[in-house]
Amino acid sequence: MHNVVILGSGCAGNTAAIYSARAGLKPLVLMGKEPGGQLSITSEVENFPGFPEGIMGPQLVENMKLQAERFGAEYRYGWVEEADLSKRPFRLKVDGEWIETSTLIVATGASARWLGIPGEQNLIGKGVSSCATCDGFFYRGLKIMVVGGGDSALEEANFLTRFSDVMLVHRREEFRASKIMIDRVAANPKIKMILNTVVDEVLANETGVVSGARLRNVKTGEKWDEAVDGFFVAIGHIPNTKPFVGQLDLDEEGYILSHGGARTNITAVFHAGDVQDRQYRQAITAAGAGCMAAIEAERFLEAEGH
Ligand code: NDP
Repeated sequence: MHNVVILGSGCAGNTAAIYSARAGLKPLVLMGKEPGGQLSITSEVENFPGFPEGIMGPQLVENMKLQAERFGAEYRYGWVEEADLSKRPFRLKVDGEWIETSTLIVATGASARWLGIPGEQNLIGKGVSSCATCDGFFYRGLKIMVVGGGDSALEEANFLTRFSDVMLVHRREEFRASKIMIDRVAANPKIKMILNTVVDEVLANETGVVSGARLRNVKTGEKWDEAVDGFFVAIGHIPNTKPFVGQLDLDEEGYILSHGGARTNITAVFHAGDVQDRQYRQAITAAGAGCMAAIEAERFLEAEGH
């Protein structure tokens, strides 16, 4: 039986691991489906304090993991398929095996949201991507489309103009993104905006790679195909809380509802990072939340006489 199990190995999970390992709790970190979290698929991080020259995202999370391991944290590949939080010790089913823990820190983050249209899922890695910084490079001089109207989509569209011209497809006329991002996109001659338009299908050629997108104007009903090589979906994220539905208090989109500090509705289950935070979503805020969760878990165990 473990003192602390931490679910997730992004900034939040790793920071929780550093703190609880230093407290002598020998935490077990289950690395999740996307080890290293969202930073592992970013390029340079310029706003994490302490790195005046910036640092590569994957390097930053790897450093955090090494730091936690130095104090005795154990890392294991795997993710929770099922959880029983009805009583302590909590039980987690991981790759078919049940493990038990006295306290739990949920730092499972959020994953890219997809459109759910034909052609999308089977063409991931063959032209469909949710990460411009990871995959943009492959589409130098080719035809790129970005879908979405939030800061992510506009930022990705801007970034991708390093490689080629970009079509930005958004389902409405107004953007959800911040004014500064909208101004930047409007001033970028390499971005063509296609508004009031949705994508009905991602098209592939005979070799099974993306060749186009079937578009539909939601106002006029007009349908047409655009030739596309790189199809980037940037329509937000979904929190990874599936195993906890019906147990943890979640909001209507599945984010964990905080019960103050790092506490959830269940005593001894704590939250950290993007799985609860729909507002800030920064590496540094996730790291801070991981620290809070670890301190709360430690104090809880101490009060129990651990
Ligand atoms: P958002 O939720 O802000 O935006 C999602 C966008 O995708 C919206 O424009 C939405 O359209 C559109 N969308 C959602 N579902 C669909 C669908 N099924 N079909 C078509 N379009 C769809 O997510 P982001 O990831 O852009 O941003 C998340 C948070 O991170 C925000 O708070 C943002 O400010 C922040 N962020 C900040 C950055 C920065 O400051 N540099 C960079 C990136 C993110 P609609 O508007 O019609 O709902």
